[in-house]
Amino acid sequence: MEDVIKALPQLAKDKENENKKFFAKLRKKPPKNLDYVMQELHEEEFERTDCLECANCCKTTGPLFTDKDISRISKHFKMKEFDFIQAFLRIDEDKDYVLQTTPCHFLGADNYCSIYEVRPKACREFPHTDRKKFQQIAKLTLENVKMCPAAFNIVEKMKRRIKL
Ligand code: SF4
Ligand code: SF4
Repeated sequence: MEDVIKALPQLAKDKENENKKFFAKLRKKPPKNLDYVMQELHEEEFERTDCLECANCCKTTGPLFTDKDISRISKHFKMKEFDFIQAFLRIDEDKDYVLQTTPCHFLGADNYCSIYEVRPKACREFPHTDRKKFQQIAKLTLENVKMCPAAFNIVEKMKRRIKL
């Protein structure tokens, strides 16, 4: 898996123009069964992907923390929300709460998430490839394929399966 992760930024760069063109067409004319196709591609990919061998999302980017995430996770630690924010979060250029540092503080050396049961919504949903109306998150997906091998593979399969 390490070799795959290392090679991914260059692979994604090589595919960037092709991906941009594909998503531009997809946004204009999404097929009627897009939600269904994405669900299938997502399930297929994650049946053979072991995120515990990777954890590249937790190591390199980390999630946004919503107010609900902050409330749930600080309760888990029996911390005041303010103290939790001070300890672990900062506000980014889009005014969202994000991690102060990466790799994520809650990631263990064994790639397990120490707050798995209460982890942020964005972590539960990453890389969002089973999201309904997938064409709406093209920009985000073009970023995610640079660091998530599963998202990269799903987009490659999309291009073969969906003829636009
Ligand atoms: S979601 Fe993607 S980047 Fe994150 S651990 Fe799984 S394969 Fe790796
Ligand atoms: S909270 Fe857990 S799942 Fe989310 S980035 Fe941190 S270690 Fe990964």
